Amino acid sequence: MLRFKGLGERITGGMYNNNAPDAAAKGKFLEIVRWAAKQGLTVTIHWQEDKSVHLLLDLYEEVNKETPIAPLRWSIAHLDNASSETLLRMKALGIGWTMQDAMYLGGDRMAAQAGEAARSMPPLVTALRTGVHVGAGTDVAPELR
Ligand SMILES: [Zn+2]
Repeated sequence: MLRFKGLGERITGGMYNNNAPDAAAKGKFLEIVRWAAKQGLTVTIHWQEDKSVHLLLDLYEEVNKETPIAPLRWSIAHLDNASSETLLRMKALGIGWTMQDAMYLGGDRMAAQAGEAARSMPPLVTALRTGVHVGAGTDVAPELR
């Protein structure tokens, strides 16, 4: 009844909560996701910041040149501040966004960090209008204070 579906959340330490991975970190990650694509596996990666997600999308696009990833249902998790540009790149790749509910319990903290921009997080309507496949999840509950 159960089968192995794919890889996700954190595949390598160098590409986890790191907005400036070096060439070695990106190379190791690329090696693994390239292998996953060739195996027909799904990949879902935890990424927090829109300002650096282009680094992940660059690698997804590189894999996509060799093995189309849209049929494999790859996605990016979190990314509460996804920009329109990012969502367009995700749509072009045919990858999804697994939006989490962190803003429900952690919105006040995010508002303190991001200010007015927090009001449009996560940009759910923009993602749907862009045509990105959106999934919703709870991830891990944010810390309550
Ligand atoms: Zn995560």
